[in-house]
Amino acid sequence: NRRFILERRPNGVPAAADFRLSEESVPEPGEGEFVIRNIYASLDPAMRGWLDDAPSYMPPVPLGEAVRASTVGKVVASKSADFPVGTWVSGLGAIEEYSLSREGGFTRAIDVSSVPSPSNYLSVLGAVGLTAYFGVVDVLAPKAGQTMLVSGAAGAVGSLVGQIGKIHGCRTIGIAGGPDKVRRLTEDYGYDVGIDYRGKDRAAIEAEIRTAAPGGVDLVFENVGGDILDATLDCLADRAVIALCGLISEYNSVEKVGARNIWQLIVHRAMIRGFLVSDYLPRFAEGVTALAGWMGEGKLRFDEHIDRGIENALPAFLRLFEGTNEGKMILQLGEP
Ligand code: NDP
Repeated sequence: NRRFILERRPNGVPAAADFRLSEESVPEPGEGEFVIRNIYASLDPAMRGWLDDAPSYMPPVPLGEAVRASTVGKVVASKSADFPVGTWVSGLGAIEEYSLSREGGFTRAIDVSSVPSPSNYLSVLGAVGLTAYFGVVDVLAPKAGQTMLVSGAAGAVGSLVGQIGKIHGCRTIGIAGGPDKVRRLTEDYGYDVGIDYRGKDRAAIEAEIRTAAPGGVDLVFENVGGDILDATLDCLADRAVIALCGLISEYNSVEKVGARNIWQLIVHRAMIRGFLVSDYLPRFAEGVTALAGWMGEGKLRFDEHIDRGIENALPAFLRLFEGTNEGKMILQLGEP
């Protein structure tokens, strides 16, 4: 059982010496327990925060433990009637080839017969899809005709946000890095306008948002923070609503700078609201039903970027910060 262990807490961008690959025996299930062979592990920007010993919504990954991640896998040994051998499951586990889990925890059985790939439970039908769904439907509550600006717009969450915004009749503007991703914003994800932020300073980004939305933006789905959020705050319409989903540009910075321009919230009587997808646990079934319905109608395009092998866990994770992932970043740990 190879496991991706946190050796020391990263300072800035995680480095190879912060981790170690350990080789351990496969666990044996006790009463009410079962062993999962992990096939896919989700690589999420939020995992960077879990590596720090800082106050957050979850305890930090303990040193010497495998790095926490959402996973999809199959039960291979079981002393639980609810999770017999062969059951496909998804839950909050770790980057390791085999995990011990028990009844009543976060692991749930999944139906893989109705989806193109079991990995979809880590993308469109997992936390990513639900973040996009509840961030738009509940936090932003869009009305047809409103202008919605999305940062990180070509990423896993952002690409779905733009499409859900369109389903609600919004005019959508996406911000992403590089010409290829910007082309995909309009061609693949239905954005009305794509903005490339790469190599541009704050003033240039602001000018592009203003050109795309001369009347200001009514709704903002913020994934990035830093200069992009700061420029956005100068382009708000009155009573704008900002769903604060993530601040990826700041996750590896040792000194958190943050957006400085919050005066504009007063000027425009705007609201900014942070949210966590886990808040919506009681409504996950609603979200999955809506997302699966749109998928069935061919209204949602979603992409997955799958790298293989536990030995590639760190370079695959770092893609999220380099922007070299094209779709939901997933690490494949074994064959289905
Ligand atoms: P993505 O698939 O969007 O991958 C991350 C992308 O972020 C990269 O591809 C890159 O795109 C962009 N990026 C990285 N560094 C920077 C930077 N310095 N400046 C600007 N853009 C950057 O990841 P996810 O869809 O999984 O996550 C997107 C956001 O959603 C994250 O902030 C994450 O923390 C947040 N999130 C929040 C949740 C919640 O419950 N609140 C739940 C899930 C995710 P590009 O090439 O365009 O730069």
